[in-house]
Amino acid sequence: MKKLTVAIDGTAGSGKSTLGKTLAEKLGYFFLDTGLLYRAISRHALTMDIDIEDESAICMFAENLEVTIHQLQPTFKFALNHTTVTDLYDVQIDKIVPIVASYEVIRLKVREIQRQVAKEGNVILAGRDIGTVVLPDADLKFYIDVSLEERARRRFNAQNVANRSLEAIKEDIQLRDYQDKNRHVSPLKIASDAIVINTDGLDVEEAVAELKKYVSNI
Ligand code: C5P
Repeated sequence: MKKLTVAIDGTAGSGKSTLGKTLAEKLGYFFLDTGLLYRAISRHALTMDIDIEDESAICMFAENLEVTIHQLQPTFKFALNHTTVTDLYDVQIDKIVPIVASYEVIRLKVREIQRQVAKEGNVILAGRDIGTVVLPDADLKFYIDVSLEERARRRFNAQNVANRSLEAIKEDIQLRDYQDKNRHVSPLKIASDAIVINTDGLDVEEAVAELKKYVSNI
């Protein structure tokens, strides 16, 4: 049977990673959430005190950045300059990651890793530019969208401690979408051959079943 590559792109908090991960488990595919790489690079830049607004500092940082993949399955493990980077999901990282991800030098670095992983086949990659730039020849491309209200509500309910208001979460998501859609390099957009799935009102199982139908039809 042909080994497939599946691209899942979508807005912030659209649930593309949950869907991609669940679909991959059902199919026995490998799943890579590519946001993880941008988040780790952003955290690493912070740790190294890089001024992320300074393009030449970012270029030098990227030039010296060594990404090593340690393990694909069952969990993706990698290191940046031989260091395992943690604490990828907090408000500080959410704020800076669209800026770090807007630099071409950074995207080229991440693209290389993404393509290396995808070469294995039977993979699902989730991100913002997978179907448009990273894997333009993917066998299947999905674009996941959900209303801003629903995304903010889901994130609000997922908080361990309700320390951020629904309104603040909504504003953060809206800003990140704006930055991702309006950057010059590899902006978030719907690939012309992508299948658009709106998951408003669908639970994970229902949404995954929808995606799986398309995989089964190939
Ligand atoms: O998907 P996640 O929210 O973890 O992504 C974090 C950020 O990483 C996005 O807001 C975006 O700026 C960047 N990103 C990207 N391209 C990807 C994946 C993530 O620019 N393929």
